[in-house]
Amino acid sequence: MSVYLVVAAHPDDPDFGVAGTAARLARDGHAVHYLMLTSGDAGSEDPSQSAEELMRIREAEQEASGRILGLSSVRFLRFPDGELQPDLELRKAIVRVMRQLRVDVALCQDPRSLVDEDSTYLNHPDHRAAGQAALDAAFPAAGNPRAFRDLLFEEGLKAHKVKEVWLYFTGHPHVNHFVDITETLDQKIAALAAHESQIGDWARSGGLRREMTKWAEDTATRHNLPFKYAEGFQRVVLEGEQEQSPEAAAVEAQTTPFPPGRGPG
Ligand SMILES: [Zn+2]
Repeated sequence: MSVYLVVAAHPDDPDFGVAGTAARLARDGHAVHYLMLTSGDAGSEDPSQSAEELMRIREAEQEASGRILGLSSVRFLRFPDGELQPDLELRKAIVRVMRQLRVDVALCQDPRSLVDEDSTYLNHPDHRAAGQAALDAAFPAAGNPRAFRDLLFEEGLKAHKVKEVWLYFTGHPHVNHFVDITETLDQKIAALAAHESQIGDWARSGGLRREMTKWAEDTATRHNLPFKYAEGFQRVVLEGEQEQSPEAAAVEAQTTPFPPGRGPG
């Protein structure tokens, strides 16, 4: 049993990026936690709606999604939506959770993603900031006993080395690890539909199901995977070797462009 932590800027981000994987891991007996850095209080076209009201709605939606996926917890740090900075305050807040949960694998938004390959989407600055802060928390800060020493001396949180990072919302050329979500795609779609304030109409129209099915199918087809629906990641192994299913190992052997290991620096 491993501990997975999914770090995301806004409610609904991780459900687009990793929900099929999260449900699959939870189903396989792993502990999967979501950490939301903001509560999405800028996610409305109505400037008169109070931030508190919107946060309450969006946290409830994310918690409903977490129940559908079988998550162990959904946590909110409540940084202001639209204002995330990959600074030391944010890094420390993520390190605190990584140490509390003794995280084995951190799933982070890819901070390199700026424009999608069809040139139809500009990545949200909060997504890039969240990804950068989560990566910087996973390595080296969470595992360095001299980083944020007040977490140790004042809160009793010992340094803990994160073993792997999986980047999501990453460009296809970077993707080197795949999870079969054929059995959990329906859970992913249901989890997304729980975000009624954001995509309720789209979910009811059937558009959400079509688009999520297409994403998952395209990922499997593009990478010649032996299953129908997949989510893809860039997996970075920081510590040792993570146990994985024989099926995932087989796929990885076909597709990993370089041997896993620590890069320069
Ligand atoms: Zn977002």
